[in-house]
Amino acid sequence: MSVVTRFAPSPTGTLHVGNVRTALHNWLLARQAGGRFLLRIDDTDQARSREDYVEAIRADLEWLGLVPDGEERQSARFDLYEREFRKLVEAGRVYRCYETAQELDLKRKVLLGRGLPPIYDRAALDLTEADHEAKAAAGERPHWRFLLDRTRAIEWIDGIRGRQHFDAAQMSDPVIRRADGSWLYMLPSVIDDIAMGVTDVLRGEDHVSNTATQVQMFAAFGMDPPAFAHEALLVGSEGKLSKRLGSLGMAELRAEGIEPEAVLSLLARLGTSQPVEAVIDREQLAANFQLDTFGRAPARFDEAELARLNAQVVHQLPFAAVAERLPDGMDEAAWQAVRPNLATVAEAADWWAVIKGPVSAPDFEGEDRSYLKAAADALAAQEWGDNPRAALTGALKESTGRKGKALFLPLRLALTGREHGPDMAALLPLIGRDEVLARLRALG
Ligand code: GLU
Repeated sequence: MSVVTRFAPSPTGTLHVGNVRTALHNWLLARQAGGRFLLRIDDTDQARSREDYVEAIRADLEWLGLVPDGEERQSARFDLYEREFRKLVEAGRVYRCYETAQELDLKRKVLLGRGLPPIYDRAALDLTEADHEAKAAAGERPHWRFLLDRTRAIEWIDGIRGRQHFDAAQMSDPVIRRADGSWLYMLPSVIDDIAMGVTDVLRGEDHVSNTATQVQMFAAFGMDPPAFAHEALLVGSEGKLSKRLGSLGMAELRAEGIEPEAVLSLLARLGTSQPVEAVIDREQLAANFQLDTFGRAPARFDEAELARLNAQVVHQLPFAAVAERLPDGMDEAAWQAVRPNLATVAEAADWWAVIKGPVSAPDFEGEDRSYLKAAADALAAQEWGDNPRAALTGALKESTGRKGKALFLPLRLALTGREHGPDMAALLPLIGRDEVLARLRALG
């Protein structure tokens, strides 16, 4: 049986890092097994779903390189839900209820007041057909609950949490359909997982109790449930579910110069026992993805860690991957020269400006001035060659007796205007002989 996973966002907002983590893990799981990764747009809530969010979700997945092998929309599948729902009606696994929110609230309070768990009392099961007709005649429309089978223990082996056990007698029959006919999340998801042949459901642990109910829904349709795994939630570096984390989207990260590979590298390993490493090859992430390395503790997302990882990713990116984002004229040699010094690809433009000039170097005085003049003279007198920096510093070492910082720093400052930066051996050929001479002569 080939693996099918799905990522099922509701298009009521853009993706944040938590959603992206779930999407990534489902992608990795499918990819690793040579299976299929589906995007399921959970847009049954037509009032809150928005088309621009659907588009943003697609665009974010594309940017991340998590391209789905198929896309489905729940709003296009209402006929199927209706048909499957009718089967449950006939089998007596769903039932009509009329309690208002206030009535239910009151029931809950009474139970809690008596120290009992606030479980729905199934009062609606006692209604006769005549009662239903009377209610319909009075213009009351039912909402529907799924009838849990309280004779059966609910159990599954969770891919991350291990053996899970729930007692259906301790659970309320979930409302699955509202009085206006609209669907709640629970049942359509099961119908879709069956129809789409989903073999593995990997999602956040906030869904564990939904799973307990859904396991019985699969059984009600005569199906085995998929393999479930629930991952610990993502929290901010301060250890809490931060507002920032809940809203931190891909557009923002992208604007900050974060590469998709950095996001993926971090989210693939966060919360696992495997080390977080900058990996630019998604297939490599897939090959090493292991559910049994996931821990139960919340995974801490740290933006500073993401920034560090981003720099490590940038240092590995080949020219072809960044060429169209580099300034006009910046070639592979220039990219190779500056890449180790970048935190973001955009910073390459700063170094390109340094290479092309003009640079604003500090004013040099006294000895340093004569040193730069000596450098210009030495350079003018020698062959440019393959490694002009080695030839130049070799000559200057001999003629001036300088070494170390005193030898290198004035040259770096004069030629780049900065104290730190890419290897001068790589920069000099890029700046070019005439321009190097001009920059030295202007100061020496
Ligand atoms: N639309 C649901 C959510 O975003 C999907 C949950 C699931 O993966 O089944 O929470």
